[in-house]
Amino acid sequence: MPDTHEDDIALRVRAIESLLIEKGLVQPAALAAIVETYETKIGPHNGAQVVARAWTDPAFKARLLSDATAAIAEMGFSGVQGEDMVVVENTPAVHNMVVCTLCSCYPWPTLGLPPNWYKSAPYRARAVIDPRGVLNEFGVDLPPDKEVRVWDSNAELRYLVLPERPPGTEGMDAAALAALVTRDAMIGTGTVAAGQGAAQ
Ligand code: FE
Repeated sequence: MPDTHEDDIALRVRAIESLLIEKGLVQPAALAAIVETYETKIGPHNGAQVVARAWTDPAFKARLLSDATAAIAEMGFSGVQGEDMVVVENTPAVHNMVVCTLCSCYPWPTLGLPPNWYKSAPYRARAVIDPRGVLNEFGVDLPPDKEVRVWDSNAELRYLVLPERPPGTEGMDAAALAALVTRDAMIGTGTVAAGQGAAQ
């Protein structure tokens, strides 16, 4: 889904950044460190570890579904935009999908920064109106009798999808399983397959 406003947003961000630096409100080095952290250290590989542990540790999964913020913090993932987490579990009967209809609320500690399409107006509008159509565009074809639930992230709550563990992965440990879990599977615009690539 194209994001026509991306260039405009990038320009505005650069303008604001220049002003903040000029007025001495922001140190360029500090800003660079924050950007670097979110680009390299914090990303969907964190969420993938949470998912893999939930698949392999039933007690952790129970904690994750009852108090996601605390369970995720146990694994060392907490902080800005992850203060109030809710994990929704995909099952054979239910597929969950996350959107922020107002802006781009997203669980940064577990997924990093949101992809451009997540912030785009078409995704934000259509995820609610036509979730199955959006899922089709992402290559997710659900059986008609499977219920689709769409969760609207906001400033108070950030949702993370616990995808279904794919068949054929029974012998795999948590590290191997984590490598199968993609970012989109944790947003709910994807599912996890036994042979697919890692979250990045
Ligand atoms: Fe938002």
